[in-house]
Amino acid sequence: MDIEQNLGQVRSRIGQAALAAGRSPDEIKLLAVSKTMPSSVIAEAWQAGQRVFAENRVQEWQEKVSLLPPDCEWHLIGRLQTNKVKYLDGRVTLIHSLDRFSLLAELEKQGFKQGQTFSTLLQVNTARDQAKAGLLKEETEDFLTAVKDYPHVRVLGLMTIGALEASTAETQGFFRELRLLRDSLQQRVYPGVEMRELSMGMSQDFELAIAEGATMVRVGRQIFGAR
Ligand SMILES: *Cc1c(COP(=O)(O)O)cnc(C)c1O
Repeated sequence: MDIEQNLGQVRSRIGQAALAAGRSPDEIKLLAVSKTMPSSVIAEAWQAGQRVFAENRVQEWQEKVSLLPPDCEWHLIGRLQTNKVKYLDGRVTLIHSLDRFSLLAELEKQGFKQGQTFSTLLQVNTARDQAKAGLLKEETEDFLTAVKDYPHVRVLGLMTIGALEASTAETQGFFRELRLLRDSLQQRVYPGVEMRELSMGMSQDFELAIAEGATMVRVGRQIFGAR
């Protein structure tokens, strides 16, 4: 597994997809999804210049953050249990999976305690998949309206996961829906909310996501190989 080469390929595909969509490649942040990978493997990606990583388990993140260089930027993706929020701190740059009021309340409580604000994205279940986390599109306005009552949490945009079995056209539809939702939510002012980021696209569909406006892509297997 040549991680440096894989990273080079992914970066160049991001660049091409951006240009094809008439966008600048530096509008798109590559998150290397390092979940399940040992720190030594993540360090290889760091050696190759990658600084932004995403993990989905808080305890795994805690271990890695202490072993890897302090200039790594850490994102949390995947379902976040409320009883794990107490382990978070300022070394988490962005939580991609704010999907319910109980999590919002817990983040507020910890943010208040620690004297800091947690940055988040609202996870939206664009595929309306029962098995998946995320707010439904029609629930997002009420949720964003409530954010003003939680001053230690800010929302910076939206995140979605395409359905596993979806066709290319369906996936494209989910990504487009997320962008249109962001654009429409931008029309109103919600205190505590800056509706700008779109976290969408993984190994199998990041180019499609870039064509639909992704500002962050979350790529694991294409960089690190199979888990
Ligand atoms: C694992 C994971 C990814 C990365 O998936 P790959 O197929 O390895 O690129 C992206 N987003 C989320 C939420 C994940 O859990």
